Amino acid sequence: MERPARNAYRGALLPTVRRVSTDYLICPHCTIEVRKGCKACRGCHARIGYGPPWPWLAAALAPSIWVAMTAHRFFYDSFLVSFAMGGVLFGGLWVVLDMVYEDRVVFRRQPS
Ligand SMILES: [Zn+2]
Repeated sequence: MERPARNAYRGALLPTVRRVSTDYLICPHCTIEVRKGCKACRGCHARIGYGPPWPWLAAALAPSIWVAMTAHRFFYDSFLVSFAMGGVLFGGLWVVLDMVYEDRVVFRRQPS
């Protein structure tokens, strides 16, 4: 599945990312070309991860929980409203992270 290219942050902080084209990636471990979208490298069987790193998603959860708890205080014990507000914030942060890290690819070698 190909998504349209956007002007996204190209991952300067992530040295394991190497782009060849939109369709192919080069594995930093064995320098074999791997088609984008594959779950593992066919050379060294390193797992390939796409999208935002999970710590960022976990970090997005913290302000969402805070907003939900704050809303809970303001909206007189309405769990529905708090849950909705936290959920909306978390969803928004997820969308932003997904846009920012759209072209992020990380090769993780399995411990042998
Ligand atoms: Zn490889």
